[in-house]
Amino acid sequence: MRVLMVASELFPLVKTGGLADVAGALPRALCRRGHDVRVLVPGYRGVLEAAEEPEAPIPLGDPLGAGPAELVPAKLPNLGTPIYVLRCPALYDRPGGPYLDPHGNDWTDNHLRFALMARAATILGVAGTPLGWAPQVIHAHDWQAGLVAAYLQLWGGARPATVFTIHNLHFAGRFHPVLMSAVGLPHSLFSPYGVELYGAISFLKGALYYSDRLTTVSPTYAREIQTSEYGEGLEGLLAARDPHLHGILNGIDDEIWNPATDPALSEHYDAQDMAGKERAKAALQQEVGLRVDPKAPVFGMVTRLTGQKGVDLVLANIPLLLQRGAQLVVLGSGAAAYELGLAEAMRQNPGQVAYRNGYDEPLSHRIMAGSDFVLVPSRFEPCGLTQMYAQRYGAIPIVRETGGLADTVHDCWAHPDHGTGYSFRDATDWAMGNAMWRGMESFGTPRHAQLRHRAMQRDFGWGPSAAKYEAVYDAALRAPARLL
Ligand code: ADP
Repeated sequence: MRVLMVASELFPLVKTGGLADVAGALPRALCRRGHDVRVLVPGYRGVLEAAEEPEAPIPLGDPLGAGPAELVPAKLPNLGTPIYVLRCPALYDRPGGPYLDPHGNDWTDNHLRFALMARAATILGVAGTPLGWAPQVIHAHDWQAGLVAAYLQLWGGARPATVFTIHNLHFAGRFHPVLMSAVGLPHSLFSPYGVELYGAISFLKGALYYSDRLTTVSPTYAREIQTSEYGEGLEGLLAARDPHLHGILNGIDDEIWNPATDPALSEHYDAQDMAGKERAKAALQQEVGLRVDPKAPVFGMVTRLTGQKGVDLVLANIPLLLQRGAQLVVLGSGAAAYELGLAEAMRQNPGQVAYRNGYDEPLSHRIMAGSDFVLVPSRFEPCGLTQMYAQRYGAIPIVRETGGLADTVHDCWAHPDHGTGYSFRDATDWAMGNAMWRGMESFGTPRHAQLRHRAMQRDFGWGPSAAKYEAVYDAALRAPARLL
């Protein structure tokens, strides 16, 4: 099958969260199953320089009147996945991140930056493609790629099937209705039966409405988003699309996330030989300024610091940790209140609390290796990756029972035969503290070592999920099913 993935992030070229990991790993897993999968990614500053083997660009003209655009065929560094880098210097060649300017504000032309990405994908998808390669399926990810199906809807001729994956329903890609023509959409589509969502254009809504198949990144989240608690006002539409909505768990890239070979670690280990993990813990404690003490349980957390991630619950439980002689290391950036709270906790508790503000891929690996427990107390979590990395690295996850966390971590008290972590239901300080307390109680006992061993044996590879995506592509090709 020929599949074009469309994503606004792609590991290792550009990453702010789990979407990049998925866009990097899923195509390789599908290629291993014999499919021809290529990825389209915007040519943000530095992306083209980091890509390998760039070929002659293919001009696309100026599809949205925002500046001339071209596609540069290239390969992902070290991994070899074929990619198309969408070059449009007027929209992408600037400092800052993929979504935010250097001051942390949304780029004011995000509607154009991501509409162009979707438009380029549809140019590849319809007859007469300038590449001589036409996908049978376009697989678009998150609101940034949301207009793919809406554009194809306007196309009269043969078109590829469309599959859309929700990585986070919270981000709907909302813009003022006056921008309809700027993004190349006729006003007829600004309707509840189109891209309109509570008076705004929503790229995400367009995708939910027009795509042949929808997926999201865990079975539990697929159910949760059909309820008013998690549905972000889209629960009715999602319930209507339920027959064509599938929850497929993300995998992890087990070549990149492997404690036996990880180049970010100075000490390597596996489930059979854990001496390296003890050394990795000491190395982490030293690196981040925690007291080097093998007996102190180390709690790690690597995350965007947003309300979603339950950072407030972690802050509230710092006294519990301190009282028990445990340590905390957090890596992440985001909301100022959390950054300040963590920095203050570190200032007041040197050697016991460490906070690193920023984005640091190698340190995130060392935190997984050096921690005894990894905290993921999210209020909602479509899938979550760090709880899976944690298990592979022998750090016991402590998670809230929601979304993909509920699907990938089973509490070891509730499931003594197969549990690999601690979980709690209510998003309260107390419930989280109780789960942490249970972890600390067993730390240092044979029971903890057994739990760690079991967690490290779990297979979170992409194989089974890639097979499920393949089945969804097949179904989309055989029975296109938009909501019309
Ligand atoms: P989300 O996509 O909601 O941010 P996920 O758990 O699905 O959450 O994925 C987060 C990914 O981003 C993981 O690979 C995690 O290790 C990484 N990550 C998050 N914050 C940082 C950071 N500050 N430094 C390095 N990696 C980070």
